[in-house]
Amino acid sequence: MADAKELLKEIKAKGELTVKDRMAIPQMEMPAQDPKVRARNMNEVALGYTEEQAIVEANRCLQCKNQPCIAGCPVAVQIPQFIAQVAKGEFKKAVDIIKETSLLPAICGRVCPQEKQCQGQCTVGKTYKSAEKAVSIGRLERFVADWERENNQVTLPQIAPKTGKKVAIIGAGPAGLTVAADCARAGHDVTVFEAFHKAGGVMMYGIPEFRLPKKIVQNEIDNLKKMGVTFECNFLVGRTNTLEQLLEEKKFDAAFVGTGAGLPKFMNIPGENLIGVFSANEYLTRANLMKGYDKEHAATPIYEAKHVVVCGAGNVAMDAARMAFRLGAEKVDIVYRRTRNEMPARLEEIAHAEEEGVNFRFLENPVEVLGTEDGHVRGVRCLSYELGEPDASGRRSPVAISGSEHDLECDAMIVALGNGSNPLLVKTTPGLDADKKGHIVVDEKQATSHAKVWAGGDIVLGAATVILAMGEGRKAAAAINEYLSK
Ligand code: FAD
Ligand code: SF4
Ligand code: SF4
Repeated sequence: MADAKELLKEIKAKGELTVKDRMAIPQMEMPAQDPKVRARNMNEVALGYTEEQAIVEANRCLQCKNQPCIAGCPVAVQIPQFIAQVAKGEFKKAVDIIKETSLLPAICGRVCPQEKQCQGQCTVGKTYKSAEKAVSIGRLERFVADWERENNQVTLPQIAPKTGKKVAIIGAGPAGLTVAADCARAGHDVTVFEAFHKAGGVMMYGIPEFRLPKKIVQNEIDNLKKMGVTFECNFLVGRTNTLEQLLEEKKFDAAFVGTGAGLPKFMNIPGENLIGVFSANEYLTRANLMKGYDKEHAATPIYEAKHVVVCGAGNVAMDAARMAFRLGAEKVDIVYRRTRNEMPARLEEIAHAEEEGVNFRFLENPVEVLGTEDGHVRGVRCLSYELGEPDASGRRSPVAISGSEHDLECDAMIVALGNGSNPLLVKTTPGLDADKKGHIVVDEKQATSHAKVWAGGDIVLGAATVILAMGEGRKAAAAINEYLSK
């Protein structure tokens, strides 16, 4: 790893840097826990830049006039501007620039798929023909947000005088939290209703602690509380109260629905109801939110398994597989009916899973879960596959090889095939339209078919990303604030 302190001295000695000088600065790698050690603990894998590493990395930015990186960011963070401040060591100014457009930089810096977004457009990466070599925008964003929090420099936004208007937010994920912040800023009384006992949505119960420490999410929620936002947890809208009751009886003037895509998809194969079969959602929620690994104290301790099979090849499958090691598994197989080239997971997530010992079994798919006499998983029966013609997704489609059934021993199976939207809210709210997939239908301002209701995030987009949910929340809050100002 290049010595950041030495490089920084050289950079300072040079004074003005040319484009050639900047291109010659080696990319600062992210310090990380050793794979063998981290696979057995819940601590964060990536350790974050030092101040020197951040300044050196920021000096790789060419300050391009056309700013292509900004076009790659769903909320248009002013990237060259914040990086220029990092290069000067002005970390507070840098984070303040990011916060003009992004509410959650410590989170987005960690979990955004940057290689497809901001970094995917970076001139430096394009010059090297690899988004991996782009300026590390996400790492810098994470660095300044962590620096602000760890140095007690967090400043809360100004709140406008009270308007007396009430806004209900349904769901405390990134979409709902963003709307809560922007509506509170406008002086409205904001209450967030959340089905779980903790706010944060997937950031709290889905994305594992070792990628996104929960204290960082909690910190953002605490800041919202300091801004006057009220949280009503253990409140399932559609059951505890309907949305209509909130609007009519509890006199909320407007509502935002950000209920996400939390309904797991299953394979619909025999044996899926055996003890030891989990959806990735349930498995991760038990580990993250209910601390199921704490066998002595958890109300519902996690199911103990030595050999875990995970079905699927997206980011959620990688999270579940990596979590399985941390919960005590000795062997973890990912079974996928296509090949490595078709895997939808981020390259970085695949690499991390592999480093930690996850075994990939390609061109294979379960057709049945096998059970013991007392109803526990004892294995999965799989078929082998070969690749055929490209399908609608553009990826070569898997074709089953007849007669290729074979059994794979395991004592737990996790299904990570994606999530759909929960129909509860649409079913219990007259006049709230959804499409065939259950996604709430909205216009360009996130307004739904119901006059007082806006929606955004995964419940509109289908399973997407934190930053896209935040972006929709921003648009919805602007529309709600405009509606309430009339
Ligand atoms: P959610 O985060 O799903 O929040 C919705 C909230 O609404 C939940 O807390 C839910 O309990 C609550 N709710 C639902 N129904 C009701 C109701 N009727 N009443 C009250 N409350 C209700 N994205 C990334 O950008 N990077 C990643 O690395 C990444 N990793 C992921 C890993 C996993 C395991 C999963 C599952 C997803 C991941 N995602 C990732 C996707 C990302 O987390 C989501 O796109 C994002 O959280 C969606 O935000 P949201 O606010 O729309 O919904
Ligand atoms: Fe990149 Fe995400 Fe930050 Fe935008 S919010 S600049 S996409 S890391
Ligand atoms: Fe800097 Fe890359 Fe953006 Fe250019 S595209 S301004 S090099 S981050």
